Amino acid sequence: MQLPCDHKRTVVLARRDGVDYVECLDCRQIFEAEDLEPAVAESDEE
Ligand SMILES: [Zn+2]
Repeated sequence: MQLPCDHKRTVVLARRDGVDYVECLDCRQIFEAEDLEPAVAESDEE
């Protein structure tokens, strides 16, 4: 059984042609950041 993932924890893998490719740390899915949220604020607070 697989729970739906909100992809709240992601890391940027690469940036190509202005597109950020991110990987979800929870489900290990890789997708474009634009597909996740239309406006992602770049926060570096760790
Ligand atoms: Zn996820």
